[in-house]
Amino acid sequence: MDDETPTQVEQRLATDRGITIIDGTTYGVLSSDGRRRYNVRFAGRGDSGEVRLWSCDCPAGLRGRHCRHVDEVSRLCAAVADETGMD
Ligand SMILES: [Zn+2]
Repeated sequence: MDDETPTQVEQRLATDRGITIIDGTTYGVLSSDGRRRYNVRFAGRGDSGEVRLWSCDCPAGLRGRHCRHVDEVSRLCAAVADETGMD
């Protein structure tokens, strides 16, 4: 491994995916047409403590539906955990 910090790893992987890290718990994900950026927020962990819950402010997310923006952030977090060995 190289000597990137976990934050640098996250930043690099996010940039690769077109995701903007807004702060520690909020990520910006572009809409499919690239015209809008939706905010995906960390909303806590599930009962088991292992599942991360997210909320998104896109039209589907606001109706409580699962959306692709949340998927993208979940995949980013999985990739970061993979590379850093942390979760
Ligand atoms: Zn969404």
